[in-house]
Amino acid sequence: MNAYIQRVLDEINERYNTQPEFLQAVKEVLISLEPIINAHPEYEKAAILERMLEPERAILFRVPWINDKGEVVVNRGYRVQFSSLIGPYKGGLRFHPSVNLSIMKFLGFEQIFKNALTGLPIGGGKGGSDFDPKGKSDNEIMRFCQSFMTELYRHIGQDTDVPAGDIGVGAREVGYLFGQYKRIRNAYEGGVLTGKDVCYGGSLARKEATGYGLLFYVREMLKNHNQSLEGKIVTISGSGNVAIYACEKAYAMGAKVVAMSDSNGCVYDAEGIDLDCIKQIKEVQRGRIKEYLNSHPNAQYFENTNGQVSPVWNIKTDIALPCATQNELTLDAAKVLVSNGVIAVGEGANMPCTYEATQYLLDNNVLVGAAKAANAGGVATSAIEMSQNSMRYYYTFDEVEKKLEQIMIHIFNDCKAASDNYGLNNNYVAGANIAAFKKLADAMLAQGIV
Ligand code: NDP
Repeated sequence: MNAYIQRVLDEINERYNTQPEFLQAVKEVLISLEPIINAHPEYEKAAILERMLEPERAILFRVPWINDKGEVVVNRGYRVQFSSLIGPYKGGLRFHPSVNLSIMKFLGFEQIFKNALTGLPIGGGKGGSDFDPKGKSDNEIMRFCQSFMTELYRHIGQDTDVPAGDIGVGAREVGYLFGQYKRIRNAYEGGVLTGKDVCYGGSLARKEATGYGLLFYVREMLKNHNQSLEGKIVTISGSGNVAIYACEKAYAMGAKVVAMSDSNGCVYDAEGIDLDCIKQIKEVQRGRIKEYLNSHPNAQYFENTNGQVSPVWNIKTDIALPCATQNELTLDAAKVLVSNGVIAVGEGANMPCTYEATQYLLDNNVLVGAAKAANAGGVATSAIEMSQNSMRYYYTFDEVEKKLEQIMIHIFNDCKAASDNYGLNNNYVAGANIAAFKKLADAMLAQGIV
């Protein structure tokens, strides 16, 4: 291990020993940077790693709101403004009971690299709340979003910090947040939030972008190894925004998706998942995936059992797409996937594979598309939304999708080039980290000690 990397890792492990997700994300990146750090001693002199690991600013705030019973509820709000090196802070808001500073920092840190890979002028940030939208009425969601924005508005702006959606934050929540922001600011500043509904300034194809982008990336990765999606079996975890549109594009590319999941369990349909039914359950009824069996009695349902391999990874597949949450694909799951002959894993969620799982997959010659690269289509299209808002103009669906496809092809080529340049034997995970790090480190050197 390079001495500089080891020292920084030791320091960060000691300083942030209560932030396991953040430490995990940092460790995975730093270890993979060894070849480029060895080749560039000037990075140590400028304390590039130390500066990259500290957010420029982390904001914590109280979010009081009133539920339908008239009771006062208090949640915690976060915005971690990690890096404005190459553009305004940019990254989603997550509403989920598990949200804490460690998770916000891991997501913000990953976001800096992801955004650099897009080649667009966007920095990195992340935010959210431990508010749980599940089971809440529309009015409760609206009151919560309004209270959240009443504090957040002072920290964001279309040239400073541009939030978007993530787990638990979709078009409905972005709408309520934008309405409150506009009311407080007394101005229409469309570019302050992305993921907006198309009827008031959103971009066509933004909703589809992360899932579609993932499939463009996986297609490029397979193509590079003389393979394609045509006729392949695919399993997907999650049934939210990323999972649904990954499924849609997988079908469009000729693959068959046989399983999808939510946090309670997974459905397996050997005839191919009926995506219209999943959309109805998840996007319209906001129900549970188990309800799929009501209209598809031949499908099977497997309940999640705590401490076991997620049932979705027990299903034999050619391509696995984890699209739910962090650390959902463990070493045990990776072993099952490999023994079932998986050829590629594309990370739609952020850090869904544990470090050990990723290493095991790579050691067994499975192609792995790292989240930073493979799911960057969402934020790339958010940047395209911002540029449409600045121009006061819009692109057609096809125009946005073509731009997205080109961006994903470029990202794959950058990851591959970095892997090839450093002799990493098709390790596109390390390739993604190195390609992004090079852009960021050079920008840091150019801007002086700030
Ligand atoms: P959604 O809220 O739309 O969907 C999340 C899905 O994951 C749901 O099916 C949910 O099930 C499941 N899930 C959430 N938490 C858990 C958990 N702890 N265990 C098991 N399943 C869980 O979110 P998105 O689709 O937007 O985001 C999914 C992932 O993709 C996240 O990691 C996010 O950071 C990442 N991502 C999202 C982008 C976007 O544009 N939306 C862009 C880039 C990355 P349930 O309904 O039961 O909770």
